[in-house]
Amino acid sequence: MSVKVLSPSLAHSERPSWLTSLPRTSSSRSVNTASATKIDISSSPSCITTFPVCRHAARKTWLEIVPSAKDRELRSHSAGPYGNFFAITWPYGKMDRVKLATEIIETLWVYDDLAEDIPHSKAAEVHAKIRDSLEADKVSEQPSRKTVIMGLFHEFSERLVRMDKEGASRVIDSLKSYLQDYDSKKGAFLDINEYTEFRVVNVGFWIMESFMQWALDICLTPAEQEVCHKFCLSAGRAMGLTNDLYSWNVERNDPANRQWNAVPVIKKQYDLTEEDAVVYLKGLIVQHEQKTRQLGLEVRRQCAGSRKMAKYVDAMGMMLGGNCFWSSNCPRYNNEIENE
Ligand SMILES: [Mg+2]
Repeated sequence: MSVKVLSPSLAHSERPSWLTSLPRTSSSRSVNTASATKIDISSSPSCITTFPVCRHAARKTWLEIVPSAKDRELRSHSAGPYGNFFAITWPYGKMDRVKLATEIIETLWVYDDLAEDIPHSKAAEVHAKIRDSLEADKVSEQPSRKTVIMGLFHEFSERLVRMDKEGASRVIDSLKSYLQDYDSKKGAFLDINEYTEFRVVNVGFWIMESFMQWALDICLTPAEQEVCHKFCLSAGRAMGLTNDLYSWNVERNDPANRQWNAVPVIKKQYDLTEEDAVVYLKGLIVQHEQKTRQLGLEVRRQCAGSRKMAKYVDAMGMMLGGNCFWSSNCPRYNNEIENE
């Protein structure tokens, strides 16, 4: 499959406004902003996003982050024919930060698959243990697969703090609250709205959002975060439902009590066939994306003149666009592409 790229790098007129007006300070130079590549989404016919999709300049170095074949196998979760998930969702992130975030979230992904294999009651206990391992002074003892992952998390939190003491706490907090809440409810949802609210947390949106800020080296103040809150929730809904659309290929074969997916919820609520429920889900995603764009414009209006906020709003759109594009062609959800 060939990679269809619009241009080797973003033309000046296509660059986000915050980028063209960014001052050349020592920190912005290291963001490596100018070399992200815009991807033509028509190369993936099932991709429905209304947001732009770009790829990080570091794409080719990704495979070299971890040299051993075993670790590379663990890393396969985020692989894709057009680039790694994080290279596509955080195309403007600082290189070293995107790399560390990639390692951490990949590990979470492996852990997520692991948690799927243990009963719900036991899973809550394991989540609590891993959450504890994020505390810098707690290390676990027993050498099992679970404790290996817990040990990795412990190391990650230390590396985050070493790289950026100030910004690390918000990222670590997002990881902790994910582990606390992610499995807190599963099964019978009243309707798709109730399900979608849970899915915002469960899909890991707040982790992606906090790492996005960290990777871009922007840190929203509590007041700025408050202004963005509705915008964020809307983006989280789009992200969660987008994952459901593309991962349904794989999840439809899972036992019903293990499914975190909108398709069965919609099917039941509206008494639809599976095929019609998928069509409905596509419409919902577009609706949430449009709402997100509208709220993004409002945030920009409210914070007129703030390059930081313009950067944040644009980055959120690229994260949603990247999530949709990557999901539409990644081997993880698209077996036929993997076997091509
Ligand atoms: Mg899924």
